[in-house]
Amino acid sequence: MASASATSADDRPYWDARLETQSRAEWDALKLGLLRRHLRHAYDNSPYYRTTFDAAGVRPDDLRSLDDLRRFPTITKSVLRARQEALPLLGDLAAVPERDVVYVSASSGSTGVPTLSPFTQTDFDGWIDYEARQFWSSGLRPHDRYCHSLNFSLFIGGPCVLGAQKLGALTVHAGTVPSERLLTILRQFRATAIWTTPSYAWYLGETAQKEGLDPKTDLAVTRIFVAGEPGGSIPETRARIEGLWGASVYDYYGLSDIFGACAGMCEEKDGLHWAEDHILVEVLDPETGEPVAEGERGEMVLTTLQKQARPLIRFRTGDIVSFTTEPCRCGRTSQRLMGVHGRLDDMLIIRGVNIFPSDVEALVRKDHDLSGEYRLVVERKDHLDSLTVEAEARHGVNLPPEELAARLKRQIKAVTGVGAAVAILPPDTLPRATHKAKRVEDRRGQVWTT
Ligand SMILES: [Zn+2]
Repeated sequence: MASASATSADDRPYWDARLETQSRAEWDALKLGLLRRHLRHAYDNSPYYRTTFDAAGVRPDDLRSLDDLRRFPTITKSVLRARQEALPLLGDLAAVPERDVVYVSASSGSTGVPTLSPFTQTDFDGWIDYEARQFWSSGLRPHDRYCHSLNFSLFIGGPCVLGAQKLGALTVHAGTVPSERLLTILRQFRATAIWTTPSYAWYLGETAQKEGLDPKTDLAVTRIFVAGEPGGSIPETRARIEGLWGASVYDYYGLSDIFGACAGMCEEKDGLHWAEDHILVEVLDPETGEPVAEGERGEMVLTTLQKQARPLIRFRTGDIVSFTTEPCRCGRTSQRLMGVHGRLDDMLIIRGVNIFPSDVEALVRKDHDLSGEYRLVVERKDHLDSLTVEAEARHGVNLPPEELAARLKRQIKAVTGVGAAVAILPPDTLPRATHKAKRVEDRRGQVWTT
């Protein structure tokens, strides 16, 4: 709802109406033009791309259609890391001299050396303008007060706050502070919007309740942007957080090697609008490398279209996703990310059946006799894999645990095809996440290393 200080300019539906509502043919023409220029830039200025394109027998001029991109080689995170280590600081994928670089983020780096995402000033300005466009599509307006509750230290999600600032919102650069302090900030500033992870939004709402606050009435938050975990695109998880806060939850997707947000939900919340003028998407079968049909799940492979400092050409993300190019009810025509179903390395294979933690999450969160917290424990007994799903009963639920377990077990079997053991635990026994939740405990490795 617009406040008294809102102006009619706040009512315009789009940040950039011409771009956001252009036809699919116009999107493709725009991307083809950008891609041609970008491949030429990479080939002319990055020793790595010149070498690998030559080795693959392709030249930028070979690209006549978007499909021709498949002739170019892919790269992985380990290539980024290796080239960066071989040639510090930025590695030979960089396509500008270091003096032109004004900002680098570093990935949180679960293994090994963090990889950097460098930006020239033009790259940075383009990124922040995209963040403003995306926030606008989620309903953020200049009269809002936006509290950025993501880590600023090295993390590429930090500067996204400048998108809210560019849009004209009053911004509070809170960063990651203890939850009691964050609740104080939210009350003091009467913040109307925040950005955090879904687990933390849930945890923060519960913490508020434990302190005797009702987030729905004692806080002014009406919009919560979430990223970093699949939860924000799982309707059941989103609904539970929305119920706790009395606020609308918008899922965002970012990638440490490109942008803090590469996609986000508009107010229709039917998938995440993609930064299609900045990043080209391929969805490929991870085994064959061939594109899957629209709407099917596959590995997301990304190519930057404008980022001068370090072009990423056909970067294999390891994220299993699905996309659509159907027009959205909001009138925007950009392609939409319809789900991050998991990561290739999160995918569990239990007796030959693929299962993602997010599949189980949706079921646990739909069952209102359960608290919503859960953990998957994978073990190998007598050379056979077994999955145990641990879930908590909700406070005040009197159904016997066996009954809750049998119900969840049936649903997991029906949806995933995996026969899992289910253990129902008393409320408040599983560890609460304060950042990214660790939902899987895979004990199978131990069988072979001891
Ligand atoms: Zn939309």
